[in-house]
Amino acid sequence: GPGLFGARANSKGWDLTDALDLAAIETARTPHATALFEAAPMLAGRTAGGIRHEVRNPATGALVGHVVDAATPDVETALRLAEPWSAAPAERAAVLNRAADLYEAEYGRIFALLARESGKTLADAVGELREAVDFLRYYASGAAALSQPARGLFTCISPWNFPLAIFTGQVAAALAAGNAVLAKPAEQTPLIAALAIGLLHKAGVPATALQFLPGDGAVVGRALTSDPRVKGVAFTGSTETALLIRRAMAEHLDPTAPLIAETGGLNAMIVDSTALPEQAVRDVLASSFQSAGQRCSALRCLYVQEDVAEAVEEMLFGAMQELALGDPWQLATDVGPVIDAEAQAGIAAYIARARAEGRVMHEMPAPAGCFVGPTVIRVGGIADLPGEIFGPVLHVARFRAAEIDAVVDAINATGYGLTFGLHTRIDDRVQRIVSRVRVGNIYVNRNQIGAVVGSQPFGGEGLSGTGPKAGGPDYLARFASAPVDVTVA
Ligand code: GLU
Repeated sequence: GPGLFGARANSKGWDLTDALDLAAIETARTPHATALFEAAPMLAGRTAGGIRHEVRNPATGALVGHVVDAATPDVETALRLAEPWSAAPAERAAVLNRAADLYEAEYGRIFALLARESGKTLADAVGELREAVDFLRYYASGAAALSQPARGLFTCISPWNFPLAIFTGQVAAALAAGNAVLAKPAEQTPLIAALAIGLLHKAGVPATALQFLPGDGAVVGRALTSDPRVKGVAFTGSTETALLIRRAMAEHLDPTAPLIAETGGLNAMIVDSTALPEQAVRDVLASSFQSAGQRCSALRCLYVQEDVAEAVEEMLFGAMQELALGDPWQLATDVGPVIDAEAQAGIAAYIARARAEGRVMHEMPAPAGCFVGPTVIRVGGIADLPGEIFGPVLHVARFRAAEIDAVVDAINATGYGLTFGLHTRIDDRVQRIVSRVRVGNIYVNRNQIGAVVGSQPFGGEGLSGTGPKAGGPDYLARFASAPVDVTVA
């Protein structure tokens, strides 16, 4: 709500229903439609550099650019040259705010690269840039209020599904608190991350405070989480990887070094017989299929009350037919590709098994490229899901009114606890379910994705993450040391 930003507001963003905004976006992104981008380690000293890879567009297969991985000597150089950002908090805030302005000014290049490197539709790209800018301004506004000193050196490891927003959020928080940062982007999305680092440096973040190490998780990620000079790790990605990082940290780092992890989800929505079907279906579509289902907040298991299930399912399948799959560069596209061929193959194999078992209720054809057609699979309940299927796959279960508490218990029993959606018009039911379900973010009578920095702090419990929530008032303090109390007699 108002107040969390102080005098600040969220980024204005771009209105895709406004012809002037759309024309401006077209003009700004067109020069970057085919240009090749480059990424390489950015260190405060000489770079050795490792293997050079191609980066390809997951929708079209076209070349987007190249990335040079950090080599093992680069990790040592970065660790040796890292220096906490000693500027006063107000100066750090000013630099981060300047970076936010630079991000907004670079929207053409950013939207182009988000589409070409990570398969983001324009609507998703707009949301992502806004979130990145919001993170910069939000953590900048917290820097001055933070009385504790920096911890020292932070490693930030970010995911490909929010290659700009989450990458920027982690780095901005660590920097706002005065740390030095070693940033490792996801292997799939180094180019947009390199662009972001360039803008942060241009805004005035010193090279010793922010170094960039693209590369493989098993090599670069491991090295950056198992060196005792590292005093904390911020990570967003799979629950399995978080566990590997925790083990590496436990073995090598100071036992007080925090792991701030945002991980997976197995998210449910309950639609009861009092819900407005049109509204519920619209929100199911957005929650399950926007971003091709590649959000940790995405809806994975829909519970529909038996009395209305047939009508809701029929309306859902009809609405799915209207979804346009294709190149995310095209304005008409609703659902872009999944991130790469490996992801596509894994999700397709899962759907094929469900199809062989006769459980596919509805599916859409996928175009050529790394696409998965949005698919709906029948399940008895959330316990039937084998884990997080990170793509446009929705599972549907039916329930009877008397079973509603048992449904919530089954959702809690997954061990995950990220997002939860509820569609009902019974107030008592909202109260009862909200107090029973154990998740980080609950959404009532709306979709369950797209948490807004400053007003919907985002993060889960259990297998879904360690907290504190990103974009919330407690996040920054975790990047700082414990406060010091001085008593003078
Ligand atoms: N914050 C995002 C949302 O609310 C999800 C972040 C993620 O997928 O890691 O949709």
